[in-house]
Amino acid sequence: MKANWIDFKALRAKLDFAGVLAHYGVQIKTTGKQHHGFCPLPNHNGNRNSPSFSANLERGIFQCFGCGAKGNALEFAALMEKIDPNDGPALREVAVKLQKQFFPEWQSDSPTVTKALPSKATAPSPPKLPEKSEPANKPGTVINAPLDFELKGLDAGHPYLLSRGFTPETIQRFGLGYCSRGLLKNRVAIPLHDATGALVGYAGRVVDDTAITEENPRYRFPGERRRDGTIFEFRKTLLLYNGFRVKEPVDDLIVVEGFTSVWWLDQNGLPSAVATMGADCSDKQAELIVSLVKPNGRVWIAPDGDKAGERHAQTLLALIAPHRLVRWVKLADGKQPTDLAGHQLNTCFVF
Ligand SMILES: [Zn+2]
Repeated sequence: MKANWIDFKALRAKLDFAGVLAHYGVQIKTTGKQHHGFCPLPNHNGNRNSPSFSANLERGIFQCFGCGAKGNALEFAALMEKIDPNDGPALREVAVKLQKQFFPEWQSDSPTVTKALPSKATAPSPPKLPEKSEPANKPGTVINAPLDFELKGLDAGHPYLLSRGFTPETIQRFGLGYCSRGLLKNRVAIPLHDATGALVGYAGRVVDDTAITEENPRYRFPGERRRDGTIFEFRKTLLLYNGFRVKEPVDDLIVVEGFTSVWWLDQNGLPSAVATMGADCSDKQAELIVSLVKPNGRVWIAPDGDKAGERHAQTLLALIAPHRLVRWVKLADGKQPTDLAGHQLNTCFVF
């Protein structure tokens, strides 16, 4: 029975709020023991552009004067998980999760504790999609933590981007540039942000397609790095490229496979576009997509016109159609959204 036992008081006392914030992708900016920033809560409905959220890291409490939320670290975690902190059983489940994450040594034998409990979120939240594919976090591992650096000296005027028709404005908006050094040498660096807009890594696109091999793939994503005993891991399955720019649920959202399609759509007046960064779509990505579209809105899927694109569409339909209306823009064989001129895009996406 030890597995089912959670000491809320001990957990709250021991939890490091800074660690909890970082775990949920909050970039910590402190003055003394006080963190100030944009509200990361998914149910925040105040102004996204004012730093209304503050947390006292020492006392482990937070409050947001935008949406009025306040509480302790455990309640913060619950709200981040879209769970009503007043829902006892659901809160307990969050506590179990946090305990696993931060105090794995407290854990006893039963690995099925969290599964055994029904999850009943009473807070208004987008429909919860089944969780299956995400492996559990290893102790001491932080997933998609905000970077504490930025790549400097990227060449935004590289012919690769300009020759593909991207304007300097688009290149600047997406922070793109050719990288001549380091892990992304000879690649276009693509900043990746989490849902809160924090920079969590860079993808790199080979500029010379003839140089693509198994060891030198077309796209490179951040790997694992270690610092001070903590493992930083990147998981693209938890991110939706460009999702953070969609500030509020929209009527029409376009979902594509790749980065270039997002840039192209944006440049052609279709800014509400996100990419799954590949032909797969994880449950988490589907959940993020649903959360970005109003209940009576539409999800427009526009995968590449090939086998992988077909698979992409089928996956998206299976995951999203139960929650939102889905329109499939079928492109001709071998075509990608970037092959369509502005006027063609306007006939594909009729909002
Ligand atoms: Zn808030």
